Amino acid sequence: MDLIFHVILGLFLSKIFIGHYSLLVVIFSILPDIIGALPYEINKFYLTLKYKGNKIKKYISYTKRTKVFHNYQKIIYKSTHNLFALLLFLFVAKIFFPDIYIVLFLAYFLHLFFDSYTHEGDFAMQPFYPFKLTVKGRSWALNKKIVLLNWSLLIIGIVYFSLK
Ligand SMILES: [Zn+2]
Repeated sequence: MDLIFHVILGLFLSKIFIGHYSLLVVIFSILPDIIGALPYEINKFYLTLKYKGNKIKKYISYTKRTKVFHNYQKIIYKSTHNLFALLLFLFVAKIFFPDIYIVLFLAYFLHLFFDSYTHEGDFAMQPFYPFKLTVKGRSWALNKKIVLLNWSLLIIGIVYFSLK
């Protein structure tokens, strides 16, 4: 899903489970993308800046891509979007943030969960990467229904917990 969705989800999780907004939980909520999507996003940004025509249209067209620009970008992306990376970060969280490691784990896990059915092509989820098993999702950038469904679920969750 888009980064803003993951940020709001992180804020929501921290409010529910820790009782206040936590930057750390938000960071774990977007960690797979902060590390994994960074080379691709920098490339995308650079190409947009270089483009002579309508930069906004170009940026959107790049966002709708289901292919990376270079193969190493796919490798880095998939290295953070799998269950082994989740276990690694669980281990890191348990050592450095023992009080809230379960929430940090949940934030990372939910990032993978929501990405699993909202990405395709080079960004499709391979839960046991580097093993080939792939979840057949549909890109959120190409599918308004998926975006609507996920945002509705998140907003319903926020409203439900704020009324409790
Ligand atoms: Zn992601």
